[in-house]
Amino acid sequence: MSDHDIRSIFVTGLRNAHAMENQALSIMKPQLLRVENYPDVLDRLEAHKRETENQITRLETVLSQLNESHSALKDVALSFTGSMAAMGHTMAGDEILKNSFANFAFENFEIAAYKSLLTVADLGGFTFAVQPLTANLAEEQAMAAWIDDHVAEITTRFATRKQAGQTAKV
Ligand code: MG
Ligand code: FE
Repeated sequence: MSDHDIRSIFVTGLRNAHAMENQALSIMKPQLLRVENYPDVLDRLEAHKRETENQITRLETVLSQLNESHSALKDVALSFTGSMAAMGHTMAGDEILKNSFANFAFENFEIAAYKSLLTVADLGGFTFAVQPLTANLAEEQAMAAWIDDHVAEITTRFATRKQAGQTAKV
């Protein structure tokens, strides 16, 4: 494979990651407006929204280091993540649970994407990209681990609220 091929794979992957992060924002932002009764979830989502905005900046920096203008970026919607987001928006009362599952799926999608990008960075010798991509990966892993650590307890709280006759409002 030529250097040109590796570079092309890398730039495409970075653009896809940029689209993925904008998709992440569009999944998190509606949740920030709706979650009221799970303050720890709200705090973690707020923090990860800020992290995501930094991730987008890191990706744009890497793209400009490759002389790829990020103003020309056209973020394609990801159908997989779109449907996950839509699932989270259903009003079935157990929204907090469905959102948690969708968020967990999305974080793991992001983890795989950054592991792949780091591999391409290594193949192509794009050493300047390793630190920012590793930083993004670490934030996705921390978010996925947080959901993994809290999904059981969120479920218990949801069930307790329901038993107490509280509305299933998120
Ligand atoms: Mg992200
Ligand atoms: Fe994320």
